[in-house]
Amino acid sequence: MRYISTRGQAPALNFEDVLLTGLASDGGLYVPENLPRFTQEEIASWAGLPYHELAFRVMRPFVTGSIPDADFKKILEETYGVFAHSSVAPLRQLNGNEWVLELFHGPTLAFKDFALQLLGRLLDYVLAKRGERVVIIGATSGDTGSAAIEGCRKCDNVDIFILHPHNRVSDVQRRQMTTIFGDNIHNIAVEGNFDDCQEMVKNSFADQGFLKGTRLVAVNSINWARIMAQIVYYFHASLQLGGPARSVSFSVPTGNFGDIFAGYLARNMGLPINQLIVATNRNDILHRFMSGNQYVKETLHATLSPSMDIMVSSNFERLLFDMHGRNGATLAGLMDSFKQGGGFSVEEERWTETRKLFDSLAVSDAETCETIADVFAKTGEVLDPHTAIGVKAARACRRSLDTPMVILGTAHPVKFPEAVEKAGVGKALELPTHLSDLFERDERCTVLPNDLKAIQAFVSQHGNRGKPL
Ligand SMILES: *Cc1c(COP(=O)(O)O)cnc(C)c1O
Repeated sequence: MRYISTRGQAPALNFEDVLLTGLASDGGLYVPENLPRFTQEEIASWAGLPYHELAFRVMRPFVTGSIPDADFKKILEETYGVFAHSSVAPLRQLNGNEWVLELFHGPTLAFKDFALQLLGRLLDYVLAKRGERVVIIGATSGDTGSAAIEGCRKCDNVDIFILHPHNRVSDVQRRQMTTIFGDNIHNIAVEGNFDDCQEMVKNSFADQGFLKGTRLVAVNSINWARIMAQIVYYFHASLQLGGPARSVSFSVPTGNFGDIFAGYLARNMGLPINQLIVATNRNDILHRFMSGNQYVKETLHATLSPSMDIMVSSNFERLLFDMHGRNGATLAGLMDSFKQGGGFSVEEERWTETRKLFDSLAVSDAETCETIADVFAKTGEVLDPHTAIGVKAARACRRSLDTPMVILGTAHPVKFPEAVEKAGVGKALELPTHLSDLFERDERCTVLPNDLKAIQAFVSQHGNRGKPL
């Protein structure tokens, strides 16, 4: 499988190189040159497979030529073996033909484990084969950091540095990062805000001299392998609800457009999907595009669903690429004008075509809490605020009651106690057994000033399993 850039200028890469690359050299994102397509019979024959075997069938075409089948199977069995539920991604019925796909049974209780548990193992596999090491530097305000650390903790060839804003992440989120020890794991609390952290990561990619030749890898959702891993659970959900003979709809709590883009790919690979609902919080750039054909940046608001607090959605470029007939030059022009002017619309026909599949809703904090309270009163289930936004949007945008509606349950509610307490159902919260002692564990973290030189000096001092690079 070959991968091409959405902006048409960067060289095409194979899977292995795409895995080790962040942004393409022309500023674009990598996508498969040709998407695999499965027949209905093929998909139907996968019913009842354990999750890791389904994952093998769905993802195999993407890694062909880079990872032999037997090795890939073994990696997948290990990856999804760490999930706490035997079904890996169980479906829970909320209402008539309405289901939550619980994607929070991984080690850090958010859907990001599906991709980052796999990414860590794939990196280590490829690096061992090449005899290379890499450094990961990421910034987090929450879920990504802990999932990335958990995904890389056993990697022999990866050192991971996660920056978080000092005293500005929740206790659960911080402890999920700082209680994991290893000589290749480095938590840095930066005396600044999340934007400062992100800026320092960006600048480190731009100027890598401090790494003394060691390669730097991105773990945010621009990394293709993360998107790839998320395609699988759309197939998994559909197969449990009568697919592919029957079409299914999905409502997806959305920030950077990675998770829902995976659903779009699943459909293009042959899975019958009726409707994809973009569920956003007050940071609603995607809702404004889907409802009014305006892609315009606005100020960032802090909400009760912080993992969806974004101004622009990096993966949306991947959809725009398809929307424009996969013309890299057109996309480069569009993204350039976005950077300069702060907004654009697409041609009416292209937008109308996109709207055949996508619907959207922006949900306020008050509505999020109402939904959590309402679902708890009717079912006894406690939803996390992101999932609640998905439920609210599903109910508002649903086109057909005969088509099963699946809401992606993106996090466990214990990760976001503030919203759950505001909704008045906080008493029902309990840490899952594998994390029940989270608040008794020791923490390890280095506090550093908000200064790029200080961060980079720390990385080069510790980037080789705690030793200097
Ligand atoms: C990351 C995250 C999202 C948003 O996912 P995207 O792929 O960025 O759209 C939603 N909910 C939770 C809990 C998350 O951690």
